[in-house]
Amino acid sequence: MLDKTDIKSLNYKELQEFVAELGEKPFRAKQIYEWIHVKQVESFSEMTNLSKAFQQKLDEKCHLTVLTKEAVQISKIDGTRKYLFVLEDGNVIESVLMKYKHGNSVCISSQVGCRMGCRFCASTLDGLVRGLTPAEMIDQIYRIGKDIGERISNVVVMGTGEPMDNFDNLLRFIELLTDEHGLNISQRNLTVSTCGIVPKIRELADKKLAITLALSLHASSQAKRLELMPVANKYEIHEVLDACRYYFDQTGRRVTFEYSLVGGVNDTDEDARALTQLIGDMNCHVNLIPVNPIKERDYVQSNASVIAAFKNKLEKNGINVTIRREMGRDIDGACGQLRKRYIERT
Ligand code: SAH
Repeated sequence: MLDKTDIKSLNYKELQEFVAELGEKPFRAKQIYEWIHVKQVESFSEMTNLSKAFQQKLDEKCHLTVLTKEAVQISKIDGTRKYLFVLEDGNVIESVLMKYKHGNSVCISSQVGCRMGCRFCASTLDGLVRGLTPAEMIDQIYRIGKDIGERISNVVVMGTGEPMDNFDNLLRFIELLTDEHGLNISQRNLTVSTCGIVPKIRELADKKLAITLALSLHASSQAKRLELMPVANKYEIHEVLDACRYYFDQTGRRVTFEYSLVGGVNDTDEDARALTQLIGDMNCHVNLIPVNPIKERDYVQSNASVIAAFKNKLEKNGINVTIRREMGRDIDGACGQLRKRYIERT
């Protein structure tokens, strides 16, 4: 597998070059790209408008990444589905389908595990195994689309892993996902969430894409952020916010700040005031997330009245706020917990 071409990770142009190298006609590239990215077949033998000989040649020279659905949990409340996929090397990852009125949204993982160490997050407890290939990222969306037999219209890179820690593969994934020859998802319907890797936020900004940047802020000061997110040791909060301002300047896209409310830690009136000071000048949106407690840590959710008060305070200060709807309450378990339970069992 190692010396074979990862054909699902090739962009359209590279596939054209590859097909030319194999001595095949240029239009074959369009056909193959369509089989892989539109029809989303699982093997070369399903590419029925190619000759048997060409199918065999592809099979010898290439590898077609396909994830295997190991388990799926379906919410009885809102139809949210949590998938556990097995990768070809035996590693497992999670993805989530959320059904909204405006369409189907998939939350994908970008890495196997994570090395960022955020204190409240289950995905990082066992560290990083490896980054996902572009093919492994995109196939989460393809398999889920096939599974439900419906189009996926929105994608959020908010599952396990730090996308900016797998930057080149992330960029390639974005290219594949938004390619007009493929699934053709609009850049506007894609959100990438980061804990704040400053140089990569700036690099992404320079690409001037129309994707939404979500920044996991979670604190109203550098000192508090340090308590929750070790990445703050490397990138100071003002440096991170400046990178977000730069992102807006370059792309014109309003940045989303994710703020997980942790009872007694970051949910006071003083926090709301300090947060306003920090981001009040920005064209942004704050998404409040009641922290999802994990058993390995003793953080608790802020109670509902505290959350409502926090929201009101920000709104009074002129900040756009939503409280994240908790989808799939009944199948919940915080990010990374399905995978963690699976690993512990096997
Ligand atoms: N590494 C990226 C994307 C993955 S995490 C990032 O940090 O943004 C997606 C979001 O879920 C982040 O905002 C993260 O801080 C948040 N999150 C992780 N565990 C959580 C938990 N137990 N409760 C609430 N939010 C959590």
